[in-house]
Order: sequence, then structure tokens, then C-alpha cells
Amino acid sequence: PVKESGTNNEDISATYEIKEKLGEGSFSEVHLAQHRLSKRLVAIKCVHKRALRGREAMLENEIAVLRKIDHENIVSLEDTFETPTKLYLVMTLATGGELLERIVERGSYTEMDASRVIRQVLGAVSYLHQLGIVHRDLKPENLLYETPLEDSKIVISDFGLSKMEQQGVFSTTCGTPAYAAPEVLEQKIYDKKVDLWAMGVISYILLCGYPPFYDENDTQLYRQIINSQYEFDSPYWDDISESAKDFISHLLQRNPEKRADCDQALQHPWISGGAALEKNIH
Ligand code: ADP
Ligand code: MG
Repeated sequence: PVKESGTNNEDISATYEIKEKLGEGSFSEVHLAQHRLSKRLVAIKCVHKRALRGREAMLENEIAVLRKIDHENIVSLEDTFETPTKLYLVMTLATGGELLERIVERGSYTEMDASRVIRQVLGAVSYLHQLGIVHRDLKPENLLYETPLEDSKIVISDFGLSKMEQQGVFSTTCGTPAYAAPEVLEQKIYDKKVDLWAMGVISYILLCGYPPFYDENDTQLYRQIINSQYEFDSPYWDDISESAKDFISHLLQRNPEKRADCDQALQHPWISGGAALEKNIH
């Protein structure tokens, strides 16, 4: 659905009427907006370019990558507008609300429901990884229902400029790979595994309603995470299947080499087969 041409430089408010704020982050705001001619509603993310700290040159490249994304479980980027200080990403509006909100509203859901949600998100992450995109910011707030319908798909709403917003191996290896040491290149491959760790945390939360790692003290929390120190606490996990626990333990694996990749996670019986029980959680 994206135009072949690059970013629009005309005033976005000539094309869209910007309405109320849907959400915000430290360097961006998301607003509801209406196309003035077609009256269609969209979500527009406004990114303050200062967030990109001197890497503005990467922007065109990054937008080109975002425009290529075309997956049923990822919000699509329909258009982009740019001013000297701001970047506007016009996205398809997801109207079904956040994943966790709906689960709380519904009161009860099954392991089967949880596994269906995780399967959709893993499919989208696998697609991003095949394009060489590491999401890096997977969390429940970024998973939205596309529509208010009961059987609505889940979409990843925040494909962000995650690669650009954070310092990391990408910024150090964007030179020519011909001279990069094996461990530098390996690190880049392992980097995808950060998304699988996040899927492990999300799966854990979906199944019991609280996070696997928690401490009011940041140093302690950090220590828990680097040691992958978590438990399937009784009584909350007593009725949850061994298969679900096995799935999570393959993702919350501290060594990224041993951590499951997307294909392995998608092939796990809890995701691919009938291992997810049709029984209520909580
Ligand atoms: P940030 O990078 O600041 O976290 P997000 O893209 O996650 O920005 O958007 C922030 C919030 O805006 C989301 O948590 C969601 O509530 C809302 N939002 C984002 N994209 C959409 C969309 N396509 N449709 C509806 N709401 C959206
Ligand atoms: Mg977000």
C-alpha cells in the first residue's frame, strides 16, 4: 500500500486532520488522524528527530526498510512525512486495544488462546528476522488487537525505529563487513535472539499475569535477568502444562546460542501442535 516515492515534505495537516493522542513515548507521540478526503482513520506516529542523535543519515535507509514490511500481524506503514525536526509515520489504525487490557477484561482465557497469540507474534518476528530487522522492543504494550472483534488478529504496532533509537552493534558494524571479526558478525546474528528472550517474558506474563523477573532494586533485577533466575511458582503455575513451561524455558535461556530461534519456537509442540491445553488460566 505504500507509495513508491520517498517521504512527503508537504505539511501533513493538509492531508490529515490530527485528532486525539493515542499514546506517547520519550521521543514520539501517536495520534488518531483522519484523511481529509477519504475520511479514513489512521494512526500517526510523530518522531522527534533529536531522538536519532546524529544518525539522521540512516533515516532514509530505515524508512525504506519499514516500507517493505508487509505482514498480516504487523501494522502497515502507509505513508511518511518529514519536516526538518520531525518524522511522521502514517500507520493503519488498530482499533481493538492492547493485548493485556483485553485479557484483563475477559477475565479468563485458555492456554490455547495464549498459544494462538504467541504463534501470531512469533510469525511476525520470524518475518522481520528474515528481512534482517531486529525489533528489540517487544512487549505487551506494543501488541494490539486489530479490531474489537473476539477473533481479531494481534498486530505488532511498534516496528519503531528501534534499530536507530538505540546504540548497539548495528551502529558499530554499519561500515563494510569485509573487515569485521567473526565475533562481531556473530554478535549481529545473536542479536536477533533478544526478540526471542522478550517473547519468553511475554509468554510467561500471559500465562500467569505477572513478570518472571521482578525486584524493586534495579541491581537485583539486573542480576536476576543475567542469571535467568525465575521460577514457575506454586500455586500460580500448578495447573499450567509442562509443555508451556518447556516452551518458556527454551526462550528464557541466558545463553543466546542455546536460546530457541523463531523457527524452533514456532515448531515447539505448545505452539505448533495440540500441546496447549483448552483450559482456563487463573
Ligand atoms: P512508542 O515507540 O513511543 O512506544 P508506539 O508505536 O508503541 O510508540 O505507540 C504508543 C502507543 O500508541 C501504543 O502503545 C498504542 O496504545 C498506540 N498506538 C500505536 N500505534 C497504533 C496503531 N497503529 N493503532 C492504534 N493505536 C496505536
Ligand atoms: Mg511502544
